[in-house]
Amino acid sequence: MENKKVEVLEEREDFVCYNKKGKSGVFKCDTESVSGAVSQRACVYCGARVVLNPITDAYHLVHGPIGCSSYTWDIRGSLSSDKEIYRNSYSTDLKEKDIIFGGEKKLTKAIDEIVLKHHPKVIFVYSTCIVGVIGDDTDAICKAAENRHNIRVIPVKSPGFAGNKSTGYKAACNAILNLIGEKTDEQKIHAANYLGDFNLAGESWIIQSYLKKLGINVLAKITGDGNIDELVKAKRATLNIVQCAGSMGYLAERMEEIYGIPNVKISFYGLEDTRNSLLKIADILGNEDIREKTLKFIEEEESKVKKDLEYYRNRLQGKSAAIYVGGGFKAISLIKQFRELGMETVMVGTQTGKKGDYDTIRSLAKEGTVILDDANPAELEKFILEKGADILVGGVKERPLAYKLGVAFCDHNHERKHALCGYVGAVNFAKEIDLTVNSPVWSYL
Ligand code: SF4
Repeated sequence: MENKKVEVLEEREDFVCYNKKGKSGVFKCDTESVSGAVSQRACVYCGARVVLNPITDAYHLVHGPIGCSSYTWDIRGSLSSDKEIYRNSYSTDLKEKDIIFGGEKKLTKAIDEIVLKHHPKVIFVYSTCIVGVIGDDTDAICKAAENRHNIRVIPVKSPGFAGNKSTGYKAACNAILNLIGEKTDEQKIHAANYLGDFNLAGESWIIQSYLKKLGINVLAKITGDGNIDELVKAKRATLNIVQCAGSMGYLAERMEEIYGIPNVKISFYGLEDTRNSLLKIADILGNEDIREKTLKFIEEEESKVKKDLEYYRNRLQGKSAAIYVGGGFKAISLIKQFRELGMETVMVGTQTGKKGDYDTIRSLAKEGTVILDDANPAELEKFILEKGADILVGGVKERPLAYKLGVAFCDHNHERKHALCGYVGAVNFAKEIDLTVNSPVWSYL
């Protein structure tokens, strides 16, 4: 892709792609997957569950066949400092008879049973594909259950066919807004909400510890290690710090409109983005003391990891990486992180990146980098081989593709058990890349 030519076309809705011979096609993003082309994207319900599941004391009731409920905490791995309720999953287990006669009675019974046995504060009710088809009135059932039990029962409209994973993120954000409720006259609390971190391997705790050292308190964690009480208070915060803008950018914007809370989009992956994010937060808060503390903190933390990162940089210099992740913000950070390790990114793609993300990716990527949106396995394999990548970074669905091709793999998704954010995460990341890229196993293939 030739940067000079692309700049001329900035105002266009889609990007025009160039190869050495000139214009070669139109790059589209943020659109529905093409039927029959196969996609790596998860469904709407999965997107909604990804966002809401980490709320530690909420009950999650899946209204649909039991298969949809296979998406549970076990394949998510967000950690809790308190309640463990979110590790359970409930289902109405719809069968053929329910599809014919409707599943409303079963849903009512399931809600009543959860209330009777567990006394929940909040139940999220997810409607999956078949419920979208048979048309059960989940809104009315949830409302009636709220009145009957005097608790919150929040419908999450998430039939898999109703869009893509991004649609599910939006459905989850709307459910959170429903929980937070209307604007009130309550006094603001001098603290920030932390959005879009799902506390995988305790990552939210790492970032909160940084913020605490700088004198910034976190009011509500949305949603990793979050709980109902703090979510209800979230409207009183003075700032929203957004880590995963792909899933939570919409919520942050709506919270600005409804409650007047400004937001800042950041990323804590890699030294460069961690440094820039901390400074961005300090600047927004406009407090000279916090800014000074931030500068000192960055200097100290960077010097602690410098030696380790130099060691890995020497071992990885000149290697090349392919990236295929969920959202644009992570892809952007990973390009920079590989650059910090002396590696070049030769392929980069996302499931749900937006035009703005791809603009940034284009500005960071070297000429010749393959940029993909909503790719399928065959496309990923083709470009990994064609570009000669030494490693693929992705999620659980991409792992077998890499191993099948004899290419190293790094899991940067929900299932990992070690933190990859902040300073400690930068070293963990470099160590993992070194372990897999320089593993002797590849020489036997
Ligand atoms: S696509 Fe439909 S049936 Fe499949 S998991 Fe998603 S909601 Fe359930």
